[in-house]
Amino acid sequence: MRTASASTTRASTITAEPCSRCDGRGTCPSCAQRRKHAWRLVTVDGLSHEETAERMHLTPARVRLLVAQERDRQDLERYRLNMIATERVRTFLEHEIERTPGLNRAEIAHYLDMKQIDLDRQLGYEPGKNGRRQRKVGIEAASRLVIALGRAPHELDGC
Ligand SMILES: [Zn+2]
Repeated sequence: MRTASASTTRASTITAEPCSRCDGRGTCPSCAQRRKHAWRLVTVDGLSHEETAERMHLTPARVRLLVAQERDRQDLERYRLNMIATERVRTFLEHEIERTPGLNRAEIAHYLDMKQIDLDRQLGYEPGKNGRRQRKVGIEAASRLVIALGRAPHELDGC
């Protein structure tokens, strides 16, 4: 993340080196705090990396790194929230199949304009190309499935 030009700025006078507790990965409590603080100053308060660096007694390169780490962490969190356990979706699906005569996964795949093998992989019935069963599926894909079954996406929550 750190660029060669940025890391040379006044590195001797201030905290340029990655933290020794977490090796600069930003995972220890004090880095987590710095990371959030830097992110807030840059993203919420609109300070430049240089201004933030000055205020936090860090180098701009370090600030850039902290902000990037915080952004990654938030992306990951968002991603996690947008996923749903395939097990829950399978339970829902099987319940629907049970109560709907003639319904099966081939039929459902057809509704969704997918091959059954792709549906089975997406929902963890079959291992994926990497040999592992999918344990999570995106909320959007799960919603499409529920809608294809003529149900409302929020009904999935009740499983
Ligand atoms: Zn640390």
